Amino acid sequence: MNAPVMPKVANKLKSTRMAGKLVNDYWEMVWRAKEEGKLVCWYEGSSINPFLEAADIVWVHGEAYSAMLAARHQEGPAQAAAEERGYLRELCSYARTHLGCAVNNQRHRNGSDSAFADVPADEDISAKLPAPDMIISAYAYCSTGQQWDEMTSRLFGKKIPIFNVSIPWIWASGKDAGYLRGQEWEETSRYVARQLEEMVKFIEERTGKPYPWDRLRELMRNVKRASELRLEAMGMCTATPAPATLFDWSVSIAPINQLPCTTDIVDYFTNVRDEVAERVRTGEGAVPREKYRLFFDGIMNWNKLGWLAEKFARYDAAVVAGRYTHMAFWQEPDLIDPDDPVMGMGQNYLICPNNHSSPILIDLIMGLCEKYQVDGIVFHATRTCRAFTNPMFMIAEQATSRLGIQTTMFEGDVADESFYKDELLNTRVEAMLEAIDSRRLATA
Ligand code: SF4
Repeated sequence: MNAPVMPKVANKLKSTRMAGKLVNDYWEMVWRAKEEGKLVCWYEGSSINPFLEAADIVWVHGEAYSAMLAARHQEGPAQAAAEERGYLRELCSYARTHLGCAVNNQRHRNGSDSAFADVPADEDISAKLPAPDMIISAYAYCSTGQQWDEMTSRLFGKKIPIFNVSIPWIWASGKDAGYLRGQEWEETSRYVARQLEEMVKFIEERTGKPYPWDRLRELMRNVKRASELRLEAMGMCTATPAPATLFDWSVSIAPINQLPCTTDIVDYFTNVRDEVAERVRTGEGAVPREKYRLFFDGIMNWNKLGWLAEKFARYDAAVVAGRYTHMAFWQEPDLIDPDDPVMGMGQNYLICPNNHSSPILIDLIMGLCEKYQVDGIVFHATRTCRAFTNPMFMIAEQATSRLGIQTTMFEGDVADESFYKDELLNTRVEAMLEAIDSRRLATA
């Protein structure tokens, strides 16, 4: 007997539907790159895509491709290829999936591996990525990023030129250190900016043309505006009920992080901002019977995005903010000067939410919890991403001692759903919500 189909509860933003078309158009453009004679660059982590787009180089962001495959439940062939090649299941599943795409690309195109030299099945889009003509590694914090790029280079026979941008960790140990301030901040900012200037020379060598700085300035005007609109819309979610949730902001990561930086992204976030403002005006909530407000710490579980949105909505819980969505992706547009954008771009790469020392990270998260008036934090212990998961116990301890709010943790993963256990999440979240109820009763 089929299980009864439950009516949907989550009241998602309608304006985010446009993201699906923009994402599909973008990947179609990537898949056509070689036919159109375009150079292709693979990269991970930092949003260096405007540098590439300005130079008419097609960009492939590794995490974005892995997340897209996972969201479509099409990650299987890539992960199987990677595991057969010897990459362990405990390796970052973004990296594992993307490396599997490289393995499949080689197998299907070169016939170099007799067991896999056949044409990919139509639905296997893991082999459709065009091989890179260059690799740029600009990963903050996590050493997996650099090793992933190195392994990609090896999979393509070490014939692909690779450029490494070192993005230092912000230790914040100096007396004047803090978020966006102090000597260390100034020095690391200049250090990254200098490397980005060198990266532009590397790009010029690949294209054989002078770098089109005016085009970069134009693109960064769009990025800055899109980022301002996104942050404005997010800020409006301090309203009760919250007009949008983390799940809407997760759908909006691609438009701010790796889609073409045309006026389309400005239009997208204008529509999102306007819809959020209208919901605030009319009192329409993203969760119709909002009873709890939660913070989500950890990377998204891309296989489960819609599933989790429904699950929390059924608990009458609005997940109003999160570390991944609210502390990354051109997070400080005021730092970007479109007329002279390199320094501000480098600074935005430095402030990814994994790149801060724990005191800064914890202060920022506590600030968000207070701003959005959350009742608790749900930690997604992302199994194959130690970088995100490492500080979670410290953050939980501070949330309880500083803010007196409840926390809970469940295990899952960015792109491998086998690590997710539904029953575990149900039990843990239900226990946390009961504790919130008890506390409310006690303080009423
Ligand atoms: S382990 Fe985490 S931070 Fe490191 S590359 Fe993977 S997803 Fe990124």
